[in-house]
Amino acid sequence: MGIRVIITLAVGLLGTGCLAASEIKNSDCLDCHGDKSLTSTNAAGVVHSLFADAALLAGSAHAKTTCASCHADLTAKHPDDNVAAQPVNCSRCHEKESLSYGTSVHGQARIARVRNGAHAAPQCIDCHGTHGMLAPGLAASPLYPGNLAKTCGQCHEGESRDVMESVHGQALAAGRRDAPTCSDCHSEHKIRALKNSSSLAISQDTCGKCHASERLNTKYNLPADRVKTFFASYHGLAAQYGSTRAANCASCHGVHRILASTDPRSTIYMTNLTATCGKCHPGASAKFAQGKVHVDVAAATAGGNLGERINWWVRRLYLGLICVVIGLMAAHNALMLGRKAAARAQRQGGTVLRMDFSQRAQHFVLALSFIILALTGFALKFPDSWIAMLLGSDEGIRRWGHRIAGVVLLLTGVYHVGYVLATRRGRSLIKDMMPSAKDVRDVADNARYLTGLARTRPKLGRFGYAEKMEYWAVVWGTVIMGATGLMIWFKLGTTHWLPRWSIDVATTVHYYEAVLACLAIVVWHFYDVIFDPDVYPLNRACLDGQVPAQWYANEHSLDDHAANGSAAQPQSPLFIAMKRKTNPSSTTIPVIKFQAGDRAAWLLGGDAQCSTLPVPAKEPCRLVLLGAPGVGKGTQADLLHYWSGACHLSTGDIFRAAKSLPPAELSPAMKDAFGYMARGELVPDETVVALVSERIGCLRCLGGYLLDGFPRTVAQAESLAELLRKENLPLTGVIDYELPIETIVERLAGRRVCSSCKGITNVSGKTAAPQICPHCGGKLIQREDDRPEAIRVRMEAYRRSTEPLIEFYRQRGLLVSISAEGAPEEILQRTVEALTQRRQERPFNKH
Ligand code: AMP
Repeated sequence: MGIRVIITLAVGLLGTGCLAASEIKNSDCLDCHGDKSLTSTNAAGVVHSLFADAALLAGSAHAKTTCASCHADLTAKHPDDNVAAQPVNCSRCHEKESLSYGTSVHGQARIARVRNGAHAAPQCIDCHGTHGMLAPGLAASPLYPGNLAKTCGQCHEGESRDVMESVHGQALAAGRRDAPTCSDCHSEHKIRALKNSSSLAISQDTCGKCHASERLNTKYNLPADRVKTFFASYHGLAAQYGSTRAANCASCHGVHRILASTDPRSTIYMTNLTATCGKCHPGASAKFAQGKVHVDVAAATAGGNLGERINWWVRRLYLGLICVVIGLMAAHNALMLGRKAAARAQRQGGTVLRMDFSQRAQHFVLALSFIILALTGFALKFPDSWIAMLLGSDEGIRRWGHRIAGVVLLLTGVYHVGYVLATRRGRSLIKDMMPSAKDVRDVADNARYLTGLARTRPKLGRFGYAEKMEYWAVVWGTVIMGATGLMIWFKLGTTHWLPRWSIDVATTVHYYEAVLACLAIVVWHFYDVIFDPDVYPLNRACLDGQVPAQWYANEHSLDDHAANGSAAQPQSPLFIAMKRKTNPSSTTIPVIKFQAGDRAAWLLGGDAQCSTLPVPAKEPCRLVLLGAPGVGKGTQADLLHYWSGACHLSTGDIFRAAKSLPPAELSPAMKDAFGYMARGELVPDETVVALVSERIGCLRCLGGYLLDGFPRTVAQAESLAELLRKENLPLTGVIDYELPIETIVERLAGRRVCSSCKGITNVSGKTAAPQICPHCGGKLIQREDDRPEAIRVRMEAYRRSTEPLIEFYRQRGLLVSISAEGAPEEILQRTVEALTQRRQERPFNKH
């Protein structure tokens, strides 16, 4: 013991008693431990050197650490107290590493062995060294990547030799710092035995860590697809779905002695493959072993070996086959869906216009920009998600796609404001969209209905509370998303005016508002337009603007359009216009209370039933309407329907309805009829009479009827008279609309039908004939039989066949002649007056 220790001890004993270990200086320790010959002998008689090399300590990572801070168990009485120094407790400073070590195979083994009184498992100093401990980045450190295999080899001799021989060891020896060494696979302090690891963990976390790295594969010119192709293989798929027996990388490539496939010693060298595969597939032949494991079917080229070429072609053939087969199936079903939807609409008695062209266009742009915004937005927020992958890995595309869609959405919003302010339809839209006290009552009433407390639903106007909520939510969402989006886009400008945190708040709002909007669209809007069983598979108003008239009358019964745009009369815009022009309280045109029938029984015949039967009338109006084509019979029939409640039964409509049915449902006679119609000729009497006879139920209907276009010949008139006689259903009268022939030709040539609302518009006399329906904005078209060549044939046919009818009915005292000159309201006025007078003279229910 040195003199200094004695002095220190003496001072300590005299003064404060014992010196704390931390106060012992390194020089005090080195006084003894600087002596190379200082040793101790343990109970087993093994001699240990107690020499501490001061130079080594000074160059170590612990140069600034005192001896006493590691050997904290020693006191100033050492060594006179004859207490041997305990092993250093590294966890006092390296707590995290110590905890990790405790869970490692080494730590666990040590705990088990210490309990058994043995100390054989490695501890810190076995890997890090003692006094000369160096940072692992220094080439002299035993932990330096190039030295680690040797360090581990102190205990794991065989494994160490294998690693050094492997491609990894060779690369390390060549100074490639990225090459893996023991700790890259087994981890550092928390050293794991990989023996029992799952196939997935080995392939994904151990080998995949480097071999899926684009940086390493590019830097060392390694094949980029090894991990991807492994996971696409049967082995990889089995591993992903939890198999613990599936082959992993090590099963084929080996564990520590991993060699290149070109090395004859490698387990994957061509001639060794049979044995390697045979480990799991007993009896594997050389042919079996030839199969490639890492096959990228998508990247395979037509120029590889035979197997690859065949694979290439098979893949392409299948892709083509899938496109053709599924494409045809989809086209078939889309056409079928279209047909069925049209037939259903027909059965339901036609459609009414719900969205005009401009509204549909706005909805389309809004929907498109919304979808792009949602996809690109979530891809920006979650760049590793499948949505981002769907859009490709280019962040620029996501960013600019999002911004462009955002600008389009905002411009649509601006356009919509203009539409609402500047157009009549826009103003009517916003007026009908305004929340009202009735909406609050509707919510309460509907809540009662939905919970079974009320029997009926509230009646709704053009827009119910659900639609209003949706509309205003879109307005709100567009403003919020637009404002926050612009703040995030122009952050520099924003922070000019607002604090930096405003951008963070805007980002949070932008994200959560997007989530809210997307969920609201799916849960609220999609229910209304897709999942509601009454509209499934789609409310097609967004496509062609039309909704089934009957559905509309049920859902929005308080809307004018629902009342007037009923199935029974698709040409309602004229009637609506008339109603608005005339004073509703005026008795000039007495519009009686009626219930719209959908004419399904008339239009479709057979088993078809009208969904709503007309209200039985005390004196059912049973009229035949006569008049040359173009006199406005159809229009008058519609108006008379509103006056009397009787259904407008047109034989022409039967043929037109049949045109939208699938050809298989058409009889040969019906198919022939189309040919006569196209030529403007009359369909043979037997065909027409058969159709009408089949629909005798409509003639029995207590709501009455307005026969339009039938009878057209004396033979048909006689057949009708016979039918009615048998049924004891006398005609009320026959109205003959009269108009000079020149006026008729001019009217017909200028007559256009709206492809959407079916309303009639006369374009004659206008210099630039309008193409757009003035009622709904739909496209105007000319009926085939209104073309000049067909008109001539029709007029001739009328003259020859129908004119004799006038005489036929005059002789029977049924004829009422009405001039068809002037506006529809005037003609209706005349008709109503004539019929009223006739009723007074001879009640309708009397013979
Ligand atoms: P409409 O709409 O009444 O002008 O009828 C259109 C076409 O259907 C006519 O040009 C005829 O080809 C056919 N058609 C309708 N009703 C009859 C009928 N009673 N007799 C013969 N052909 C008819």
